Amino acid sequence: MDARATVDSMLRADLRGRTAYGAPQLDVAVALNTNENSYPVPDVVVEAMTRAVEVAARGLNRYPDREFTALRGDLAAYLSRSGTPVTTEQVWAGNGSNEVLLHLLQAFGGPGRTALGFTPAYSMHPIITTTTGTAWVDGMRGVAGAGAFDLDAASAVGQVRQLRPDVVFLCSPNNPTGTALDLDTVVAVHDAAEHALVVVDEAYAEFARPGTPSALTLLADRPRLVVTRTMSKAFALAGGRLGYLAADPALVDALRLVRMPYHLSTPTQAVARAALAHADLMLDTVDVVKDQRDRIVTELARMGLDPVPSDANFVLFGGLADSHVTWQALLDRGVLVRDVGIPHYLRVTAGTPEETTAFLDALAALVPTHA
Ligand code: PMP
Repeated sequence: MDARATVDSMLRADLRGRTAYGAPQLDVAVALNTNENSYPVPDVVVEAMTRAVEVAARGLNRYPDREFTALRGDLAAYLSRSGTPVTTEQVWAGNGSNEVLLHLLQAFGGPGRTALGFTPAYSMHPIITTTTGTAWVDGMRGVAGAGAFDLDAASAVGQVRQLRPDVVFLCSPNNPTGTALDLDTVVAVHDAAEHALVVVDEAYAEFARPGTPSALTLLADRPRLVVTRTMSKAFALAGGRLGYLAADPALVDALRLVRMPYHLSTPTQAVARAALAHADLMLDTVDVVKDQRDRIVTELARMGLDPVPSDANFVLFGGLADSHVTWQALLDRGVLVRDVGIPHYLRVTAGTPEETTAFLDALAALVPTHA
């Protein structure tokens, strides 16, 4: 037997034949495929991080603060700026919100349990779910006649009542479609779910258009509700790997049962705290990115394509004859976007004005033959 066959014979049966998460990491001039913030960390924050990491380095003979209390305090203070007070005890964090989601599934999913999500949504939700031995059920987002990718509240409630899942994923603003949920839908799904954990993934919350309230405002007296966030997007800290959540302190406490001790390294905590101490500066680019996002929607519509209005830092657009052919043609012109597997659609991240121009110019040249 060759090594691959030997490994396959040992592998969990439910993992055999699966493919790993694989957004291409290619060296291209214009990388607009993973919804990062294109702007580098500002110099003054780089200096603050460097100083903080230097101090941290001297103490690396010791384990980090297992409770990352100071960081949780900083995250709580940041969330409280939204107008909804959030306490340190309500906050949990991990190496990216992916790890925070993993902790949730480890604690509240598992063999014999089911999670429901409404696709197309974030592709890691089913992967994290099944990794923990939890069954994944693909719910439907839309109903005929409604906006193609809007989550229909009545349909979602019906699916929740019928399936009686243990975990429900909502994603707002939704990746890859870009649209945010209204809070009535979140409340309706939460109430229909009766005994289930309801996760609202708000990775892109800071980019939402005005009048889009966060599910943070719903947390009081709802111990089954969790809101996850990340520093990877608006905060321009994808490489720092820091995601977090807000929930009832009792729920946060349950996550201590599944996390590995000391899961957030001392440098990770130091870097994230330095970024949070400069929150306004780190978030300075959000408005520029939102302008580019809106520019993409306007320009693509003008080209005769079908962009979905977005509350995030990316735009899903349809109207392509063959999305993979267009994806490759854009790459040939040095522009990397994302093929999210929806026929005739691609997703593009809103970058700097120059990157957006490069993307729009490349696409405009293709549209006559690709649309
Ligand atoms: N949730 C959503 C909806 C995302 O799009 C992403 C990243 N693309 C994440 C969570 C995970 O981000 P991270 O692990 O970097 O916090």
